Formats: sequence, C-alpha cells, structure tokens
Amino acid sequence: MSGHACLSCGGALKRVFSRRAGTHFWMCAGCGRAFADEGGQPAAMPLRGDPDPAVLCPVCGSAMCLVWGARNGNFWSCSRHPHCKGTREIEEAQP
Ligand SMILES: [Zn+2]
Ligand SMILES: [Zn+2]
Repeated sequence: MSGHACLSCGGALKRVFSRRAGTHFWMCAGCGRAFADEGGQPAAMPLRGDPDPAVLCPVCGSAMCLVWGARNGNFWSCSRHPHCKGTREIEEAQP
C-alpha cells in the first residue's frame, strides 16, 4: 500500500494505530499533523491544529496544539510533541 500525501505540506502519510484512541490514524512525516482514518483513507481534516500561543504547555512552556481526539474528546497537546508529552484538558468556559 502506498502513497497518501499530506494535505498540509505534501509529506508522506503513514497509517498508524493509536492504542489510546483505539483507532487507526494517519501521521505526516513532514509536518507532524495527524489525520483521522476514514475507511482506509486519510480524512481531509487534520487531528492536530496549529500551535496556539495563548495556550502554554504545563511542562515546557511552549505553545500547544488543539488535538481532535477520536474517542476521548479534544485536548491540548504540546507543539513539541513527541519530544514533550505535555497535555492539557480543554477548560470549559465558566458561567
Ligand atoms: Zn504534512
Ligand atoms: Zn511541552
């Protein structure tokens, strides 16, 4: 099986299995974005957003990226992932 290109940077996408999410997804070797798996094809929407400088990693202080979790909902992941494992829950707006 070969050859899906990243929609963001044109890099090679690799299909990997996430034990945490219990599902397959696609990982870009170029920009590090993840894409959901839709019937063996990478979805158009990246699972990982661009780094948001308003949200800082509790571990290293870098900007964090919004991640669209397949099963556990959305959360913030450090933009230095996988070098930094920092994550943050999305804080609901308080009334
Ligand atoms: Zn890419
Ligand atoms: Zn970090």
